[in-house]
Amino acid sequence: MKKTLPDVIPRKDIIAAIYAFDAGKAHFFEAPRLYEVVYEGRGYPPKAIVGIAASDLLGVEFGPEDFTGGIKSKCHKLLTDQGFEIRTKAGADALLTEKSYPGELDEDENEQYAEGAAIRVTVNRFERDLKVRRAALQFHGSCCKVCEIDMADVYGEIAEGFIHMHHLVPLSTIRKEYKPNPQTDFIPVCPNCHTMLHKRNPPFTADELRKIMRKTA
Ligand SMILES: [Zn+2]
Ligand SMILES: [Zn+2]
Repeated sequence: MKKTLPDVIPRKDIIAAIYAFDAGKAHFFEAPRLYEVVYEGRGYPPKAIVGIAASDLLGVEFGPEDFTGGIKSKCHKLLTDQGFEIRTKAGADALLTEKSYPGELDEDENEQYAEGAAIRVTVNRFERDLKVRRAALQFHGSCCKVCEIDMADVYGEIAEGFIHMHHLVPLSTIRKEYKPNPQTDFIPVCPNCHTMLHKRNPPFTADELRKIMRKTA
């Protein structure tokens, strides 16, 4: 049965949801393509924030299917009613080409399984944050820091700039004022190495994985 959003979510509860989101709280919402709600200059996914806030407020778990997002939705109204600004995401179009890749979601730090359900939720937002990703790419280049493959050397131009960004800071140590540093907090890794890094929790380091790897001719 669909759950109904409350008519009011107090501002403090929305802010609490934003903090929870920043701390990596598991949720079932996909990253939005078009809109973000602004808090202290940063953009957040409106649906996820409202979903988390409503869940905490009412004590029942709201999922993406319980309500709609987007312009003129109750979801957005709950936010704007409390004085939050909703803006169009910068580079909303770029998301179409730089959206998270299949597989990138599979083995992340914050993978969570809902009890008794085959639902997987991943919330390592830093590995998928577009701005951070671009800055890290610019600094580190697009060669895998473990196996040194450049995807474009193998797959040609369809893989130009394609690489995963592995986040080196354990989410459990991240505080809410944490601002990711694209130069020191990330390394580019190919999807295979990325998956293998996450075979352990906490993840292997690039050095450790390199030692584990079989030398191929
Ligand atoms: Zn690799
Ligand atoms: Zn990773």
